[in-house]
Amino acid sequence: MIIKPLIRSNIFLNSHPLGCKKYIENLFKEAKALPAIKGVKNVLIIGGSSGYGLSSRIALAVSGKVNTINVSFESRPTEEKTGSAGWWNNLFFQQYAKSLSTKHFDLVADAFSQQTKDQIKGLIKKEFGTVDLVIYSLASGARLNPKTNELVRSSLKSIGDPVMGKTIDIAELKIKELSIPAASEQEIKDTVYVMGGSDWYDWVEQLVDEKLLSEQAKSISYTYIGSKGNAKIYRDGTIGKAKDDLEAYGVKIDALLKEKVKGEGLISVSKAVVTKASVFIPGIPFYVSSMFEVMKKNHVHETILEHKHRLFHQMVYGKERLLDDQYRLRIDYYELQDSIQKDIERLSSQYEGDKIFALQGTKDFIDEFYRINGFRIDGVNYDEDVDLASLSQLTPLGL
Ligand code: NAD
Repeated sequence: MIIKPLIRSNIFLNSHPLGCKKYIENLFKEAKALPAIKGVKNVLIIGGSSGYGLSSRIALAVSGKVNTINVSFESRPTEEKTGSAGWWNNLFFQQYAKSLSTKHFDLVADAFSQQTKDQIKGLIKKEFGTVDLVIYSLASGARLNPKTNELVRSSLKSIGDPVMGKTIDIAELKIKELSIPAASEQEIKDTVYVMGGSDWYDWVEQLVDEKLLSEQAKSISYTYIGSKGNAKIYRDGTIGKAKDDLEAYGVKIDALLKEKVKGEGLISVSKAVVTKASVFIPGIPFYVSSMFEVMKKNHVHETILEHKHRLFHQMVYGKERLLDDQYRLRIDYYELQDSIQKDIERLSSQYEGDKIFALQGTKDFIDEFYRINGFRIDGVNYDEDVDLASLSQLTPLGL
């Protein structure tokens, strides 16, 4: 099968396995060139098949020589369908990890479910004894409530008044005006249930109760603050309420870990990057395009891997922690510097409408979106026939 990109409403409907392979190879190469991360041995990553979870996993596996377990939710390929990029990322992670002298496991399952938690706890017991870092990097649109058996869905809406905005339609290369409705109370509650911190707390509490965390173990999750320009849809919207909840659970997890294992719970405010989850958020494509342009010109741009590597190297396991008054690690400070934010605002107003496509930052943003799904990657022959039938027989090292 010759695989061509299929995108609808800024969601990739397919992926390119050979491109994903190259993407993972490139992340491994990038991590190999970065300084060693010391002080951590066994890591559980919840949501480690793409985006921030994947870059955390590779930064730690390569630069920190850690053992990892990754739980993610991805669609497997069939003879007709390519499967999701995350599926291939897991598979090729396993392939490249063979060059490391450490152990790595993948479970493709619903991290919210008790069954998955039980499986992972069993695996930790059997393979590692304990873990010393738990990374919670889920981005999900839905969560099954086991008490009611209802599938609760999150929504990306404003709170209070509806908001007008614009986004880049990547498939059509057009600017689209958006009218984002205000969320109902129920939608706010549901978004908090799906994207807030209660499931993170459940994971950590169960690991503590079953003595599966080492002394001084840490757990971290990722939040976003962002600019005034995207506040109405992000931080002041439904997703912002979920992030408030995640951060509040971060404080509870910190207290729990301090008391039980002399460890700590951490929240990192991370920068905006191109991921499956972020490109879908209205307004973010516009903002990230201008942000790329400005941060690259000011030489403060970081790749997703460099960003997460710096988080663990300098802050989580280093001595250069930058904390705000809410005890959050501010690894996003390059993005949120006043001068950078002013330049982004200025650029966004100068390049309104279709003019944004003239910016190199927009081209880079779009290319990156293709790359995270295995397309537009140097060194991949996209005219090559991909034998999906035989590739679909391969599975990541599951349980
Ligand atoms: P992503 O879509 O690239 O990754 C999400 C991960 O969650 C994937 O591994 C996916 O398989 C997994 N997942 C989703 N539902 C699951 C389920 N039910 N069970 C198991 N795994 C499941 O997203 P991302 O952008 O890397 O987001 C990760 C975290 O980082 C989120 O909390 C997000 O809010 C935060 N964050 C992202 C940005 C950004 O710009 N992308 C910025 C700051 C913070």
